Amino acid sequence: MSVLTFTDRGIHCEAGDFFVDPWRPVARALLTHGHSDHARAGMGSYLSTDIAAPVIRHRLGPIRLDTIAYGEVRRIGGATVSFHPAGHVPGSAQIRIEVAGEAWVVSGDYKVVDDGLSTPWEPVRCHAFITECTFGLPVFRWPAQDELRADINAWWAANASAGRFSLLGAYSLGKAQRLMSLLDPAIAPILTHGAVEGTNAVLRAQGIALPDTVQVTPGTDLKALSGAMVIAPPSALNSTWARRFGDASTAVASGWMALRGIRRRRGTDRGFVVSDHADWAGLNLAIRETGAERVFATHGYTSAFRRWLEEQGFEAGIVSTDYAGDEVFAADEAPRDIIDEDAGAGEAP
Ligand SMILES: [Zn+2]
Ligand SMILES: [Zn+2]
Repeated sequence: MSVLTFTDRGIHCEAGDFFVDPWRPVARALLTHGHSDHARAGMGSYLSTDIAAPVIRHRLGPIRLDTIAYGEVRRIGGATVSFHPAGHVPGSAQIRIEVAGEAWVVSGDYKVVDDGLSTPWEPVRCHAFITECTFGLPVFRWPAQDELRADINAWWAANASAGRFSLLGAYSLGKAQRLMSLLDPAIAPILTHGAVEGTNAVLRAQGIALPDTVQVTPGTDLKALSGAMVIAPPSALNSTWARRFGDASTAVASGWMALRGIRRRRGTDRGFVVSDHADWAGLNLAIRETGAERVFATHGYTSAFRRWLEEQGFEAGIVSTDYAGDEVFAADEAPRDIIDEDAGAGEAP
């Protein structure tokens, strides 16, 4: 019996009778984190880290949710389960599942760089590793966080001195808070879209420190706030909501900005290359550190990445899942022209 199998409902552990991040209703779901493609409604019961739980409750409403701390070991049926930091967003976890002495790890989404907000990623030793590979091509290389901080603040300061708003598109859980933590509050106030502020409130209530922000409402006196930074979900940048800021400078922060032409296609003035997923080097580092012999790729450039893994001597396979990738693009907006399509579901290595 395999520790995990890949089904059309999600990644299944038969020994423990549970699923990891299922996308169809199941009795028992273990969640890696609160992003909507991983944490879905309709499960009989849920298990997540204690740090991820408030956002999951905020998004899914009243659910049966049990929590577990990083590193805590729990027995579920015939499986031994533990959650380990994935460094993706606050509370995100890699889930280690051991059955009869064989350990598998489901990475969820992860990044190996410390963003200053999420519990930093830790390597987890295992026999088989199921890795996301959203950005699994060598072209994806993230600038250092200090460089990113300097670039964003320089862009903001230039706009502020011209009396213009800076509109920055970032998804509302994780990236928005990470970027706001990099901002220099001496430049001007930080304003937020309601979707971002809702998540901010949940994170602050659980003790995660964030800079002061002001939610934009119909009554907000924008004249008194010119030069402010406005953080909103990317979809809001091209909406009527954004028009109230007049002649603002717009930017999107995403790993996809590493691709030529993407910023232009989005119609923004600036693109910052930043992601809460691992870049090419990060993926390779993480995989080596697990010590795994078998690696399954999911969530991204899976075919190319599988070939690469095989060239490196791994037993490699592809898992077809229903996860969305970097949320800055809706599924139909992602740059499909260079995405290598997923191969068949549950293909064995
Ligand atoms: Zn995610
Ligand atoms: Zn994801």
